[in-house]
Amino acid sequence: MIEILEGIYVFAIGAAIGSFLNVCIGRWPEGMSVVRPRSRCPKCGHQIKASENIPILSWLMLRGRCSNCHQPISIQYPIVELLVALLWLAAFLQLGMTFTAFRVAVFATVLLGISITDAKHFLIPDGFTVFGLFFVLLTSFVALYLGGSEPFARPWDAIIGMCVGAGAISIVGWLGEVWLKRPAMGFGDVTLMAVVGAAVGPTRALLTIFIAAVIAPIVLLGIVYPLSARGLADDKGQTELALEASGGWRKRELPFGVFLAPAALVALLGGEAIIAWYLRISGL
Ligand SMILES: [Zn+2]
Repeated sequence: MIEILEGIYVFAIGAAIGSFLNVCIGRWPEGMSVVRPRSRCPKCGHQIKASENIPILSWLMLRGRCSNCHQPISIQYPIVELLVALLWLAAFLQLGMTFTAFRVAVFATVLLGISITDAKHFLIPDGFTVFGLFFVLLTSFVALYLGGSEPFARPWDAIIGMCVGAGAISIVGWLGEVWLKRPAMGFGDVTLMAVVGAAVGPTRALLTIFIAAVIAPIVLLGIVYPLSARGLADDKGQTELALEASGGWRKRELPFGVFLAPAALVALLGGEAIIAWYLRISGL
C-alpha cells in the first residue's frame, strides 16, 4: 500500500516537473523568462487558470482545446508531462526512494528537454545545460556522503569528464567542418557534452558520442529525410528537414543533440556493461 502511494506521489511530481519542462521548452528558445509572465493561451492570450493547469488531466478534460477560444492546444504538453512522469516513476521503481534515483530522474528530464528543443528549434538553450552542469557537479559531491555515486561519475572523474566530453565533441565538430567545408555542429553540442561528461565521466562520454554518431545517420537517412520528403512537412521544423531532404541538407547544422541526449542516458545506465562487452570481444 505504501509503495503504491509512493508511486503515485513520484508520478505526480514527475508530471508537475514535466509541466514546467514544457514551459522551458516553449520559452527558453525565445529568450523568455520561465517564471513570468503566467502561462497564456498562445492563440488568444487567455490566462490559464490553476484548474486548467493540472498536468495531463487538464488537457484531457479540456479535450485538447483552449477553454476561451477553443483552438487546439498542442499534444506536446500532455505527452511531455506523461513522459517525465513515467521517467520519474521508472527511476524510483528501479532504484528505490534514493538520492541516486532523484539524480537519474533529473538528469533524464534535462536530456529530454534538450532533445525536444534541439529537434524543434535546432538549438540547445543554456538554461538546460547550465542547470544540468551545476546539478551534476554539486550532486556528485553530495552523493559521496549519501552512500555512493554509481552510476554517476565521482567528483574528480566528473570534472575530467566535463573537459573530455566538451573537448571530444569540439574535435568531431572541427573535423566535420573541415570535411564538409561548412559549420557542422553548433556550440550547444559542446555545452551538452560538458554536462554529459560531468555526469558519466571521460570514458562513457566518448561512448556517448560514438553511440550518437552510429544512430544519427541511421535515423536521419533511414526515417526522417524520406518521411519529410514525402510531404509530411507541415510545421516549421519538418519543413527545414524537407528542404534538407531535397538535396540541401548539407547546408544545415545537424541537430546532433537529439541523438547525444538519449545516447547519454544509455551510457549512464548501460555504459559500463557495453564497454566491458566490447573489451571482451575485441581482446583489448
Ligand atoms: Zn485560447
